[in-house]
Amino acid sequence: MIASDLKSAIGRLERLIETSGRVLPFTGAGISTECGIPDFRSPGGIWTQNRPIPFDEFLANQESRDEAWRRRFAIEEHFGTAKPGRGHLALASLYKCGKAPAIVTQNIDNLHQASGVAPADVIELHGNTTYAVCLDCAARYEIPWVRTRFTAEGRAPVCPGCGGFIKTATISFGQSMPDEPMRRTQELVLVSDLFISIGSSLVVWPAAGFPMMAKRNGATLVILNREPTEFDAWADLVIREDIGTVLAPFIAKSVAR
Ligand code: NAD
Ligand code: ZN
Repeated sequence: MIASDLKSAIGRLERLIETSGRVLPFTGAGISTECGIPDFRSPGGIWTQNRPIPFDEFLANQESRDEAWRRRFAIEEHFGTAKPGRGHLALASLYKCGKAPAIVTQNIDNLHQASGVAPADVIELHGNTTYAVCLDCAARYEIPWVRTRFTAEGRAPVCPGCGGFIKTATISFGQSMPDEPMRRTQELVLVSDLFISIGSSLVVWPAAGFPMMAKRNGATLVILNREPTEFDAWADLVIREDIGTVLAPFIAKSVAR
């Protein structure tokens, strides 16, 4: 059912949260747009200007790796300065009061961690772009370090330890999904009574399969997104409003800044 107005949407969401034992928030790029990070599909957005570089191309040639890193440095102005928004703070509140054991996210911006959720309880399905890893030995590298090396060498650097390629810690198109986050999400879906999809167009698979997995398992499904999604017909509550506005009343005083 689609909530008819903002007030009734907030009221219904509040009751659902109150009456549910375990809530599983599942977030996408829409929760971070108010933090200055454009979402994936907004017209003219940073993501739509270039065709994504698939994983096999990144591995196959230096020019693709250089281009991937040039693009990453170009979006640093969005990612490097972003602070958690009202949606992040509301979910951190649900987490801190014990309602939500973890947050599952498709986002790569580290903003759930920055809002006070323990890193171990932020399940990242698509990785994290705020740092980099060696694809061979998994050593971690910070973005400023990569940038300094790139500037000095004029090309994407390799791992000083093993010579492997260094890539942001994200999952690219064509790269296999991380086992552990997928497994943990599935486990959480199966024990949750309320699944809230927040700010996702639900078109990127396999992540988009989790709302229906929850629904089929008997959970109540809420979809909060300003645009329709393919799964709205199956949701118990659809809220087509601004995320920050809907979730602001859920921010606990202990979490608010
Ligand atoms: P998406 O861009 O496909 O969908 C975002 C949805 O959020 C859209 O339907 C949009 O209408 C909605 N939205 C945007 N701002 C909103 C607001 N203030 N209130 C309500 N709704 C709002 O994002 P997705 O489903 O997460 O898939 C995109 C992929 O790209 C993800 O896998 C993610 O890894 C990556 N990505 C991440 C970030 C980030 O980390 N912040 C940003 C862009 C893309
Ligand atoms: Zn290495």
